[in-house]
Amino acid sequence: MKRTLIRSLEENLNKNVIIKGWVHRVRRLKGITFIILRDRSGMVQCVVDNKDPIIHGLKCESVLEVSGTVKEGKNSLNNFELAVESLKVLSKVEEDLPIEINSEELNISLDTMLNNRILSLRHEKKNAIFRIQHIIVEGFREFLSREGFIEIFTPKIVAEGAEGGTALFKLDYFRKDAYLAQSPQFYKQMMVAAGYERVFEIGNFFRAEEHDTARHLNQFTSMDLELAFIEDEQDIMDIEEEMLKHIINKLELEGTRCFKMLNVDIPKILAPIPRIEFEYAARVLKENYNKIVTDNDLDPEGERLLSEYAKEKYNSEFIFVTNYSRKKRPMYTMPKGINGTRSFDLIFKGTEITSGGQRIHDYDMLVESFEIKGLNHENFSSYVNVFKYGVPPHGGLAIGLERLLALLLGINNIRETSAFPRDRSRLTP
Ligand code: ATP
Repeated sequence: MKRTLIRSLEENLNKNVIIKGWVHRVRRLKGITFIILRDRSGMVQCVVDNKDPIIHGLKCESVLEVSGTVKEGKNSLNNFELAVESLKVLSKVEEDLPIEINSEELNISLDTMLNNRILSLRHEKKNAIFRIQHIIVEGFREFLSREGFIEIFTPKIVAEGAEGGTALFKLDYFRKDAYLAQSPQFYKQMMVAAGYERVFEIGNFFRAEEHDTARHLNQFTSMDLELAFIEDEQDIMDIEEEMLKHIINKLELEGTRCFKMLNVDIPKILAPIPRIEFEYAARVLKENYNKIVTDNDLDPEGERLLSEYAKEKYNSEFIFVTNYSRKKRPMYTMPKGINGTRSFDLIFKGTEITSGGQRIHDYDMLVESFEIKGLNHENFSSYVNVFKYGVPPHGGLAIGLERLLALLLGINNIRETSAFPRDRSRLTP
C-alpha cells in the first residue's frame, strides 16, 4: 500500500491507510496510547493499544510507519483520528532531545536555535519560514518567466569585485588571486548584452564586511533581475512593483496557513508604491523628525523613519527612494544630472530590501565612470570591453531574500531566515 499524507486522511474516512512521519507527542493512558504523528503536511492523532510493544519507551521524534483505519473522532487537531493496526519504527531516537520542540512556542535563544538547527526547524512555526521562502522564490521565478526573462547562473568565483569597496573574500585560485562574488552584477549585464535582453538569477553571494548586525549575513541570497530596452529607472521600479504584487497574491493563495500560524498579516499594495527623490526624503526627515541625513545616505534610523512617513502619508508599507548621489552608487550606475544617478532603493517596513537602477551602456561613459571612482578599467576589461559592441539601454535590481523574509514575518534577526546562516562567528552547521 502506498503512503498517504496526513493532509489527505479526511478523504479516506473508514479506509485503511499507511502514514509515515515523526512522533510529535506521546500520551499514555491506562489501556491505550495517543501518538501525535507529524509529516510535512500536518499532524494526526493515532490511537494505539498498549499491548503493542513498540510504544513502550517510544521517544518523541522517532520516525514511524503506521497502518490503520481512519475513523471519525473529534480531537484538538482534526475531526478524525487513526485507529492503529500496526506500527513500525523506521528510525529510533537514541538520546534525549537537546531542545523541546513540541511546545506551542520555541522559547530558546537564537544561538541555541541555530546550533540545533535541524531540530528547531521541525518546530511548526520555524518550519513555516522556509515554506514561505519557497513561495516567494517560486513567485519571483514564475512572474519573470512569464514576462520573458530567462534564468541564468553566474560565476561565484570572480577576478574582481563588482560593487566596489573592500568587502571581498579573497581566495587562492591556483596561485592567482580570486574572490567570492559579491553580486552577479557584471555577468547579468553581460547576459543582457549577449542578446537575452531579460535575465534573472537567484543565487548566493558573499560579503566580507566585518558587520555584525541583525540585517547582514556574510553569505546571502540575492534575487536579481536585469532587462534591456528600458527608457529609464522608472521601468525597473514598475517591474518590481508588478513582481511584488504577484508574490503577494501567491502568498495569499498558498501561504495563508503559514501566515496564520505565525500570526502575521500578508502586506498589501493597494496603490502605486510612492517614489520620492533622495533629496526630498532628506527634507522630509529633517522637517518631520528633526533627523539630519549625512553622507548622502540613509542610515537604519533614516530608513525606519521614512517608512513611518510612508505609512502615515501614503498608507504604504513600501517606499522607493530614487536619485541617490553618484558618490554613493557603484561605477556601473547611470548618472542623472551632475551629481545624481538613475538609481533607487526600495524600503519595506523600515529597512532597505532592494537596490536597483539604470546602468551605463555607453563604453566611453563607463570608462570615465571607473576613473571617477578611482578604479582602473583595464582590470575589468572582460566586462568593460563588452560595451564596445552594442549594448542596449538596460537596468535591473537585487532583492535580499533573507532580509525580505525577515521583514515580511516580523523576525528581528536575519540569521533566523537563513537555514544555515554564515556570519563572523558561525561556520557550522
Ligand atoms: P546595506 O546598505 O543594507 O548594507 P547594500 O547597499 O550593501 O545594503 P546592495 O549591495 O545594494 O546592498 O544589495 C542589494 C540588496 O541585497 C540589499 O537591499 C539587501 O536586501 C541585500 N543585501 C546586501 N548585502 C547583504 C548582506 N550582507 N546580508 C543580507 N542581505 C544583503
